Amino acid sequence: MDKKDISSCTLEELVKEIEQMGEKAFRAKQIYEWLHVKLAEHFDEMTNLSKPLREKLEAAYEIPQVKLVERQVSALDGTNKFLFELEDGHVIESVLMKYKHGNSVCISSQVGCRMGCRFCASTIGGLERNLRPSEMLGQIYRIQKISGERVSNVVVMGTGEPLDNYDNLVRFLRLLTDERGLHISQRNVTVSTCGIVPNMKRLAEEKFQITLALSLHGSTQEKRKALMPIANKYELSEVLAACDSYFEKTGRRVTFEYSLVHGVNDGKEDENELVNLLKCRNCHLNLIPVNPIKERNFVRPDKKSAENFKNKLEKSGINVTIRRELGSDIDGACGQLRRRYVEAR
Ligand code: SAH
Repeated sequence: MDKKDISSCTLEELVKEIEQMGEKAFRAKQIYEWLHVKLAEHFDEMTNLSKPLREKLEAAYEIPQVKLVERQVSALDGTNKFLFELEDGHVIESVLMKYKHGNSVCISSQVGCRMGCRFCASTIGGLERNLRPSEMLGQIYRIQKISGERVSNVVVMGTGEPLDNYDNLVRFLRLLTDERGLHISQRNVTVSTCGIVPNMKRLAEEKFQITLALSLHGSTQEKRKALMPIANKYELSEVLAACDSYFEKTGRRVTFEYSLVHGVNDGKEDENELVNLLKCRNCHLNLIPVNPIKERNFVRPDKKSAENFKNKLEKSGINVTIRRELGSDIDGACGQLRRRYVEAR
């Protein structure tokens, strides 16, 4: 029988498990602290537990690890890209970005992705499997150990669609922000979605204080459909209504992400339509000049026209930034490092 994944258990679940083994509940607290505060990788390290208990744990549970395969460090800005191998041999990537306000880690939520966004490298090979809560946490824990730096912000914006792996995502969010664990502040966590409406609604009901980011990329239903297959399933109007309701229920301002693709969604009418969509919303717009990938011939607008696009929106009262590009000298775009590795293998 497969061993149970102990790092995906909440403390309450762990208490039950440990009591079933005939042990006292406070042992569960000790184990939980070893796993999520001291970031232990083996039961042997848990020196305040008796040897027989450690052996019992070892026989019944596993502490899944993500193993470092490759690390790229940007000479320009110190951004780190990591390629990790999971227990079953799949590889995923994560990024560490250093800002003045703290260190931010961008994690993957799935191995591959089935959403099919046209400009995205992560989706080209389709979905392999969902990541477990412990594998999402493991990316952050491993990066903290490798870099020796404290992580203060987490963005679920790497490979995968987090709301297509809903239950594992929510469990991960609870573990990540638990005050008895690593205790990342909920306000420092962002989950980015291509717009899976029913699960956006569910997330609003979880009463988290996390930021929801919506990948918009088109200012009309037709434009969105041309770039994002998910738009065939959920109309833009429904997606925006789900964003509004997220804001109403949580008080958290939604971030809209908009990848600028030259000649596709960066024209004058796009500016006007975007202003119409967003001017009455309390939100933030993040413009991302598209990262060209070799499988598609999408081109990014030059710096000047991206600036003009931004200025026009700003003048119309939209709260907008152009995302600062980090790590452009390493395999920067979503899923490119993993893709190169998988292709070579
Ligand atoms: N599936 C989620 C999160 C992963 S992608 C989502 O769709 O939001 C994180 C962000 O990067 C999304 O806004 C995505 O559309 C964008 N993105 C993906 N590939 C890109 C590329 N080549 N250039 C610019 N942005 C890209």
